[in-house]
Amino acid sequence: MAEECIFCKIAHGEMPADTVYQDERVTAFRDISPQAKLHVLVITNKHFDSLNEASADDSDLLAHAMKICAMVARDEGIDQSGYRVLTNVGEQGGQSVHHLHFHVLGGETLTTRLGS
Ligand code: 5GP
Ligand code: ZN
Repeated sequence: MAEECIFCKIAHGEMPADTVYQDERVTAFRDISPQAKLHVLVITNKHFDSLNEASADDSDLLAHAMKICAMVARDEGIDQSGYRVLTNVGEQGGQSVHHLHFHVLGGETLTTRLGS
């Protein structure tokens, strides 16, 4: 766990969040500032600064996180209407929290197809 990392604190139950799913490897919770009707963040419980830090050894964990993104979409009833999964990396990627997380966005028509 990285000190002073808010997402580590959420994963370890040291900071409150509107959690929709948790297991020993990932945590899913609603974004505090939703950018779509449905906006859930899926984080790895293990700290990575971003996708850049994940290695081949983490393949199973990343695959699991993707599966949980799809599960969240299904549980929220948007798997058939459609949704988007994305991760921002670094400054130009628009990353503001430096703990790997996947945004699950949907529940309405998403206006931009890619990028800004
Ligand atoms: P990024 O900009 O790094 O891709 O995404 C970070 C996301 O985390 C943003 O959408 C922001 O609203 C969300 N966020 C930041 N702090 C908190 C928090 O304390 N709780 C929750 N639930 N979401 C947060
Ligand atoms: Zn962290």
